[in-house]
Amino acid sequence: MSAPLLELRQGLWEELLAHLRRQGGGVRESGAFLLGKKTEALRTVTAFLPYEQLQVDALRNDYVSLNAASFAKLWELCGRKGLSVVADVHTHRFGAGQSRSDRENPMIALRGHVALIVPNFAQGGRGFQGVGMYVYQGSHQWSSHSGSDIAQRIRLTREGGDS
Ligand SMILES: [Zn+2]
Repeated sequence: MSAPLLELRQGLWEELLAHLRRQGGGVRESGAFLLGKKTEALRTVTAFLPYEQLQVDALRNDYVSLNAASFAKLWELCGRKGLSVVADVHTHRFGAGQSRSDRENPMIALRGHVALIVPNFAQGGRGFQGVGMYVYQGSHQWSSHSGSDIAQRIRLTREGGDS
């Protein structure tokens, strides 16, 4: 199974990184759900929803955690706006490898769900340098992608477009 292709605007990706960097303040993890449209072949990200907007204390621990009420809010919002959860993203202090908790507790436990990990509390560059991409395979198994592999699976588009 090849990894689903994720597509988003360069500007949105940079906005997301800037938000994660600001929220983490260089001292703690931060994260967000990536929302948009999902088809078999392509996931288009149109917005992101930071975890702290779902749950005020989501970032209080050393790691990000959301309770059931936050997920209820998430589904309510997605239903109202006609959006799907396309992926999730969170930062790590150092590298972008999955922690045991990341592996065992997918934010969305659906086969094919994409989780991104941004290293260095998102204080690095604006591209995918060091970013880890993980695709859930079920039963706590993931496929992982990094480096040039990611550039092939996540397409950054220009602002505006033709349509
Ligand atoms: Zn993690």
